[in-house]
Amino acid sequence: MLIDTHAHLCDEAFDIDRDEVIGAFEEQGVAKVIEIACDPADFDKAKALADRHERIYLNFGIHPEYASDWADKDISFIREYLKHPKCVALGEIGLDYYWEPYDKDAQIKLLRRQLDMAMELCIPVSLHIRDAYGDAMEVLTDYPNLKGVMHCFSGSAEIAERCVKMGLYVAFGGSLTFKNNKKAPAAAAVVPLDRLLLETDCPYMAPTPHRGKRCLPSMTAITCEKLAEIKGIDPARMELIAAENAKRLFGI
Ligand SMILES: [Zn+2]
Repeated sequence: MLIDTHAHLCDEAFDIDRDEVIGAFEEQGVAKVIEIACDPADFDKAKALADRHERIYLNFGIHPEYASDWADKDISFIREYLKHPKCVALGEIGLDYYWEPYDKDAQIKLLRRQLDMAMELCIPVSLHIRDAYGDAMEVLTDYPNLKGVMHCFSGSAEIAERCVKMGLYVAFGGSLTFKNNKKAPAAAAVVPLDRLLLETDCPYMAPTPHRGKRCLPSMTAITCEKLAEIKGIDPARMELIAAENAKRLFGI
């Protein structure tokens, strides 16, 4: 019943055993995985993966790290990819001020152009926001009816509450389990059960005790356990609720 709502199985970290990793899903209880294609160079690879494997769904979008290349270019080709029957959202898109140097103006411009596209097509978005919640919340107030998810949420409890008020879902991954991370559990605590999603961001962000190793979609179960502990419910119930939420938002 596990649904990993954010994975990068097209990453080169899976080049040696991608089909084996996906082949193990059934036995590991991984029902569905949303593959995030966020570099146009990988769009066709991701599409082929979803065409080949029943459990794989898709997101297409341009990550903020490519903003300086794409902010002023024609991005209308994304529309064609969004028509794929297994594509469930536009993403991941957003703002990332962690990696320097970054071009703030280009990132905001590219984000707004993709948000406009999502609104026009009535498709949810997957948002990647890192060290940029101030600017992101400002941009998002211009999109009051936006549907989507704050992926790998790393903001404060207060920002999480604002996201929920805006109608967004909030997803947590392996970083929720890190010993020194007090912020994510505090944020998870204030998000209502019907707005929580689980994800891995694999091959990155493996949860404790696998931290630093290659992350796998099956590790969603570890984050689910932690989230259940924070919410004071049974892990099996948490898994079911998160799956229902993913179904409601993404239609999968
Ligand atoms: Zn990602």
